[in-house]
Amino acid sequence: MRKPLVAGNWKMNGSRESNNTLIKGIVDRSSQVANVEVLVCPSFVYIAEVAKQLDGSTVFFGSQDVAKEEVGAYTGEVSVGMLKDIGCTYAIVGHSERRALFGDTDHIVAQKFAAAQNGGIKPVLCVGELLEERESGQTEAVVERQLQAVVDLVGISALENSVVAYEPVWAIGTGKTASPQQAQDVHAFIRSWISKEDAAVAEKVRILYGGSVKAANAKELFSQTDIDGGLIGGASLAADEFISICEAAG
Ligand code: PEP
Repeated sequence: MRKPLVAGNWKMNGSRESNNTLIKGIVDRSSQVANVEVLVCPSFVYIAEVAKQLDGSTVFFGSQDVAKEEVGAYTGEVSVGMLKDIGCTYAIVGHSERRALFGDTDHIVAQKFAAAQNGGIKPVLCVGELLEERESGQTEAVVERQLQAVVDLVGISALENSVVAYEPVWAIGTGKTASPQQAQDVHAFIRSWISKEDAAVAEKVRILYGGSVKAANAKELFSQTDIDGGLIGGASLAADEFISICEAAG
């Protein structure tokens, strides 16, 4: 039985004041959420403060990225050791915004995945196709290529201690959600692709859906067989909406 996970990706949003309000709202309502892991991923700068506010709650916190290197002269980077030091349990790697805007290639994403895992943090590996790739029938090939890069570097068994997030790029921040069937089809493809290498890993790995999830569409998406929760952008910035999405996963 896979425990659902709902993760909020706050992206480059927030301030001390707004984070405080958001965390208070999430923690106050978190008892409404049963049998779901709830995770928030603030900007690096605020993680330590959010961690303090979450102390004693059941809500996990993580990062939106991680350096592929362990330590040293890498100006501006944040290492897995630092994230572990402040208590992070998850790190998002390969978000489409990192891939599109900051040069994160499949191989770099795989290196970040390996760095997170080697440092004791669970990677949340984002995969997903562009609109033109979907329209030209390449969705599965793209997702396979992104997964393969990770498996080539760390092996299939490493996926067991990770989370995969399927995020069609055309659905991120656009208000266009994949239909539950479109999402389920790709989730089933991912699980069967993993299963060909290792059925036990495929059974255990949680595959989240991300792309304009809101309280209004969460239940139907999360009720699909191979969807084990969500990675939530915009809708994770309002406590009521985020908690309603978490409840829908329960
Ligand atoms: C995301 O950035 O991971 C995401 C899914 O964003 P949104 O929910 O805003 O589409």
